Amino acid sequence: MNDALKTDLDDIALILEEIKRSSVDYLNEINEIPTTRIDQQVEPATLHEAGLGTSKTLALFNDNRRKLMVSSAGPRYWGFVVGGVTPAALAGDWLTPVFDQNTQSTQGNGDISAIVELETIRLMAQLLGLPDTFHGGFVTGATMSNFSCLAVGRQWAGMQLGKDIARDGMDKEIVVLAATPHSSVIKSLSMLGFGSNNIVAVNNLSGREAIDLYDLEQKLIDLQGRSVILNCSAGTVNTVDFDDLAAISSLKKKYKFWMHVDAAFGGFAACSEHYKHLVSGWEFADSITIDCHKWMNLPYDSAVFLVQKAHQKLQVQTFQNSNAPYLGNPDENFSYLNFLPENSRRFRALPAWFSLMAYGKAGFRWIVENNIDCAQQFGRYLADSAEFELTAPVRLNVVCFRLNEKEKTARFLDVYNKRGKVFMTATVLNGEMCIRTAFVNYRTSDKDIAIRELEETLKLL
Ligand SMILES: *Cc1c(COP(=O)(O)O)cnc(C)c1O
Repeated sequence: MNDALKTDLDDIALILEEIKRSSVDYLNEINEIPTTRIDQQVEPATLHEAGLGTSKTLALFNDNRRKLMVSSAGPRYWGFVVGGVTPAALAGDWLTPVFDQNTQSTQGNGDISAIVELETIRLMAQLLGLPDTFHGGFVTGATMSNFSCLAVGRQWAGMQLGKDIARDGMDKEIVVLAATPHSSVIKSLSMLGFGSNNIVAVNNLSGREAIDLYDLEQKLIDLQGRSVILNCSAGTVNTVDFDDLAAISSLKKKYKFWMHVDAAFGGFAACSEHYKHLVSGWEFADSITIDCHKWMNLPYDSAVFLVQKAHQKLQVQTFQNSNAPYLGNPDENFSYLNFLPENSRRFRALPAWFSLMAYGKAGFRWIVENNIDCAQQFGRYLADSAEFELTAPVRLNVVCFRLNEKEKTARFLDVYNKRGKVFMTATVLNGEMCIRTAFVNYRTSDKDIAIRELEETLKLL
């Protein structure tokens, strides 16, 4: 064995101790670590003939790169929809490469990782109050989840026209309807051959980001004879608006369409008794996207996609490795190889399994309700202040606002973020720029909300 590898293997216990110490140091400091780094200069590394070994590599990294990490997993990173990493999630993720399983088959391959993945999907369905009619798997994020769900939807839509899209290619008679699709849905439609320009826009309700049901029904009537996929939102990214999923699902009795629900983070409303009505009716969807590296506080990269078991044949047609006869009949010999885009894949369910077992329903209910409380407190403060105004109601865990002196908003955000205490991102609502904060980290508390960064930043303008 090569010397560097041999020494590392002999010292594995020591190396893991060093990594543990380094991890604990970082996590203990995370509240003080800046949320942004202005000076991002690093000396480019050179690849040498002989490697340094892991201990020296860790020291080198800690010396010059670790200090440029931002506390995106900390309590005051409110930009995008980021989330953090709970201890149980970290434990599961740490162990994933220890086992390094190639998660595929539930039979005959000698490991149980696929069985654990199926079990994790069942546990997630229990957390979210979904029936066991769904079947699912782990993918890298909500983008791939939307992609996978829409791919099965495409196969269903083709079948309505007597076409097998997976074998014969795209059919122009398939139509995708959407009101406020996330950018990743549009990207998925490009990747799937629909063409992102071909989305048929459904009207929003006035002043809302949710589907106007009257307009939807008109479109479904007009499109009879075509084959329709409808993208619904359970939590739009800006104003966290929810489509009326119960009403949409009852339209399925009158019209044929594939109902996909992008519930990337909004789906976690189901953890709370007070908010679960927002997703009522999603159990009748054909497919659902859930992100795990956002509100579930799992590390990147993790999401699940759920498809009704009744569509299993279509799912297999979409993802089957049909030129690998050793896989046998995919219906009898279950393998993830035939149920989602990737072939070889990591044991991605493990951090989720650990988190679900470690915190249970009460743990996730607390995370969700605590974040909603934080958003409401922050929203009340802004609404009451003389300098700021809300640009959307605080429906769940996201707050959108701007300065009363609108034109100063961009400069304010820039100065604010450069201070490195709290991080927020810009968005556009009704054609105008505003600031958007999303509360999805389990560490965030009222202490973080009370921080006087807004006032301090105003003084600097
Ligand atoms: C974040 C998000 C996505 C995309 O998720 P990734 O994990 O970044 O791929 C899709 N839909 C919604 C509603 C989101 O919030």
